[in-house]
Amino acid sequence: MRVVLLGPPGAGKGTQAARLVEKFELLHLSTGDMLRAATAAGTPTGLAAKEIMARGDLVPDDVVVKIIEDRIAEKDAAKGFVLDGFPRTVAQAKSLDTMLAAKGQKLDAVIEFEVDPEKLVDRIVKRAEEAKRAGLPVRKDDDPAVFSTRLAAYREQTAPLSSYYRGTGLLKGVNGMESIDAVTRSLDAVLDGRTHE
Ligand code: AMP
Repeated sequence: MRVVLLGPPGAGKGTQAARLVEKFELLHLSTGDMLRAATAAGTPTGLAAKEIMARGDLVPDDVVVKIIEDRIAEKDAAKGFVLDGFPRTVAQAKSLDTMLAAKGQKLDAVIEFEVDPEKLVDRIVKRAEEAKRAGLPVRKDDDPAVFSTRLAAYREQTAPLSSYYRGTGLLKGVNGMESIDAVTRSLDAVLDGRTHE
C-alpha cells in the first residue's frame, strides 16, 4: 500500500503515519525527518536545507524529489510506504507520479487532514513544550513566528495539491481536529477495502 498524508504542519500527519506504519508494516517516509537527519549529519544537502527549514520555507523541489526517489528505490520500499510531508508542491506530486509509473506502481490513497489553521499554532506550541519536558530536542521551526511562514508556504504551495489529487479520484478527507484515536478510526475507514500489498 502506498499512501500520501496531506495537511498543514501540526495537523497530526506524523502521529497517524506512525500508527499506519505499525498496522500495515509500511515504511514511514517523512522528508522533514530525512532533511533533519541530513542536517544533523552535516551532508551537503542537509547544510543547504538548514537555513531554509529554520525560516519555514520549502526546500527546492529537486532536492526532496531526489531524496524520495533514492529512498523508494531501496528494497524495503517494496512493502509500501506512507509519505508524510511529501509531496508539498504540484511539481513534486507530478514527479512522484512519474517515478511510480516507471516502476509500474501508483498511489492507493491520498488522505487530507482537514484542520482549523488557527488551532494549529496551539498544537505546535504544545509539541515544543512536550518535547522540552521529555528532554527531547525542540524543533527550531516549532516556534510561532516561523510557524506562520510554514503555514503560508502550505497555503500557497501545498494546498493546490487537494485539487490535483481530487482530479485523480484518490483524495479522501478526514477530520483532523478530532482526538488522535478518532482520527485513526477515520483513517482505518478510508483505507478499509484498499489494496494492502
Ligand atoms: P516537516 O517535518 O514535514 O514539517 O518539514 C520541516 C521542513 O522541512 C519544512 O518546513 C520544509 O522546510 C522542509 N521540507 C520537508 N518536506 C519538504 C518537501 N516535501 N518539500 C519542500 N520542503 C520540505
